[in-house]
Amino acid sequence: MRESVAANIVEFDLAAPRRGGLVACCLVTGAIFSAAAGLLRTPPAETPVLRPPVPVRAAPATTPFEFIAITIGRNDTLDQIFRQLQLQISDLAELRRLPDVRRSLDSLRPGDVIQLTHLDGELRSLSRRVNETALLTVTRAEQGFSANILAIPFRVEQERLQGTVNSSLYSAVNAAGGNDRLAIGLADVFKYDIDFVNAVQPGDRFTVAWERRVSDDGAIREGDILAAEFVNTGKAYRAVRYVTPDGRADYYTPDGRPVRKAFLRFPVDFARISSGFNLARRHPILNRVRAHRGIDFAAPTGTPVKAAGSGRVVSRGTSGGYGNVVVVAHGSGVTTLYGHLSRFARGVSVGDRVAQGEVIGYVGRSGLATGPHLHYEYRVNGVHQNPAKVTLPKADPIPERLMADFRSRTAPLLAELDAPQLAPVRVAAAAGQL
Ligand SMILES: [Zn+2]
Repeated sequence: MRESVAANIVEFDLAAPRRGGLVACCLVTGAIFSAAAGLLRTPPAETPVLRPPVPVRAAPATTPFEFIAITIGRNDTLDQIFRQLQLQISDLAELRRLPDVRRSLDSLRPGDVIQLTHLDGELRSLSRRVNETALLTVTRAEQGFSANILAIPFRVEQERLQGTVNSSLYSAVNAAGGNDRLAIGLADVFKYDIDFVNAVQPGDRFTVAWERRVSDDGAIREGDILAAEFVNTGKAYRAVRYVTPDGRADYYTPDGRPVRKAFLRFPVDFARISSGFNLARRHPILNRVRAHRGIDFAAPTGTPVKAAGSGRVVSRGTSGGYGNVVVVAHGSGVTTLYGHLSRFARGVSVGDRVAQGEVIGYVGRSGLATGPHLHYEYRVNGVHQNPAKVTLPKADPIPERLMADFRSRTAPLLAELDAPQLAPVRVAAAAGQL
């Protein structure tokens, strides 16, 4: 079914053969082969070279092994794949005896690529990407198989872009050449200072420098935002990423104050305020004036609710109008309350410590509620405060002894924000391996 130089090269799409009832092969054209051949060393017959699953399938004509790249389809199992390719099913059983391999093979998802070589159905090698930076390789050993995790070399590129908001942050970031992930990242950096759901205006501007990792096989992984500026209704906010010597990364203002507060302003993402803090509100169900001592956030049932700050769960249960409710004590007399939950997060019990941003429950309409929403309260020494206005405690600043390090590391990143003429892409020389 195949011939000449491409004789032992098969591109195998499991969706296709099932329909055709036969192993369907796609010939790798001579042109692709010649292009790819330059990248490949000719492997000695006994030790096939394993490489990351690249889109171009190729192997030198001299190897006696047949090389196959398989893209996993929906509902595919390795059992079926081995049978369809007429590979020895006992080899698969052998592979599964290696715990790392079994874990990796059991977690295959549609779109994942497995590469393997075989000789007359006897498996010689198999590889699959574990993540952006690691490759699992299995080779036939004296007895059974041996597995290794190889680092996939990558280089770090630095990119930046600028844009102006017309309708939404998403469209502005996309129009400037970024993507939704970058937009979310940008909103995440400034979420303590800017309400991206309700307060972003047309004319708001942003500049963002971020890094991405490009693997040797061309895979791109978007990395962290390194520095960013957001101008919201004329007020400029800046943040720069800094990793402490003990490995903790966070965002800081250029003068070293943490952008993060000790509390999230709001404990749900992307939610609309449906009812504000109001001490003389007419209650929608009770129809009488009853103080609303918190903020309601309309959000679909099941939306995660996060602990606004780190603390200890002091109450978790059902309580009258609140329905399912969690109360967290944060120290210094601050407690927060989360009501009308549809359910609690698993493993969150009274007495447990929770971290800022940790999911403690999910939006619902339990208790006295007309529709799914979160009722959120913020109290200081038992007195209700308006969560939208209360001055939030600051997160810990950078210790003085690290300030020199902070300044020297962040200066070049902050300079990115001030560069007068932005080139679309600037490639940094840095390279690394994880
Ligand atoms: Zn409420």
